[in-house]
Amino acid sequence: MRKLLILLLCAALVACGGKQANQASGAAEKVPEQKVYKWRMVTTWPKNLPGVGVAPERLAEVLRKMSNGRLQITVYGAGEIVPALGVFDAVSLGNVEMGHGAAYYWKGKVPAAQFFTAVPFGLTAQEMNGWLHHGGGMELWEKLYARYNLVPLAAGNTGVQMAGWFNKEIKSLDDIQGMKMRIPGFGGEVFEAAGGTAVNIPGGEIFTSMQTGVIDATEWIGPYNDLAFGFYQVAKYYYYPGWQEPGPTLEMIVNKKAFDSLPPDLQEMLRAAAGMINEDLLSEYTARNNAALEELVQKHGVIVKRLPDDVLRELRRVSEDLVSKLPGDDPLAKEIYESYRKFRKDASAYTEISERAFLNARAETDDLAQ
Ligand code: CA
Repeated sequence: MRKLLILLLCAALVACGGKQANQASGAAEKVPEQKVYKWRMVTTWPKNLPGVGVAPERLAEVLRKMSNGRLQITVYGAGEIVPALGVFDAVSLGNVEMGHGAAYYWKGKVPAAQFFTAVPFGLTAQEMNGWLHHGGGMELWEKLYARYNLVPLAAGNTGVQMAGWFNKEIKSLDDIQGMKMRIPGFGGEVFEAAGGTAVNIPGGEIFTSMQTGVIDATEWIGPYNDLAFGFYQVAKYYYYPGWQEPGPTLEMIVNKKAFDSLPPDLQEMLRAAAGMINEDLLSEYTARNNAALEELVQKHGVIVKRLPDDVLRELRRVSEDLVSKLPGDDPLAKEIYESYRKFRKDASAYTEISERAFLNARAETDDLAQ
């Protein structure tokens, strides 16, 4: 009995010793930081707008799961905390940690930012991704936004947009003279130079502006979003192609100080999640636009038309002239313009014999499709 007691006592001591040893070695290892970051993300989109408005919500959800709850982001629609066009300043000043929108909304403050969304007759979505992530574009974007205490990330693309909704038929260049159109970014400046009047109003206010006759025409995104906004109720003509936005990249902006406060693993998750949403949103548009276009035509009697050649030619002529003047005296803006222009030139050469050649060949042989 005594022997048994001694044995049990020894066993208990060993167990305790073992436990103490484990605790000691555990303390020596680097314990992962468990601080929870509760961030706010303001956006330029109406809350939960299909596509662009849902993307930031999805991004927040992915980050919450990836970080095991350590990075919790609450997403706000346009006007909930700051107005749509106040997102840049709110994040730049550090009033909120993050934002989601499009860089060309800030053209009044940062003209060169427009290259990072889209410029008329510029890069397609595929080409934008190439320029940004493997063609030096991202580094230039970071350099530009560092001036405003911001870290930019590409976070979505809609693909080629539509030229927009018009309350009358466009037969020639004469028809757009004096026309008031909601068209933001550089497309707006080009539209003005071609004889129209450009207005920059956020998405949520377009329908009423069309309905009350404040504007005669509007571009927004493409069939998927345009159907959701009900523009077919206030305009009959739906024109293509979206010369003004051939592949607009959406942005996620993070306040630099907030970004630097994150541990390296959360910073990397943020980058990875932005990359995921950048690709995912384009996939969503690629899948949803088709059915929406069919519904607009079949159910709502929308007339889909191509802009006349003389209109497109004039818009192109004006675009090239204005885009070349965009950098002004800013050496960094000049560097961005040169980089963008060179990439477009190089990409066009291969796009001709790859995407375009293939799409032409496919269209020409569509009669053989089963
Ligand atoms: Ca647009």
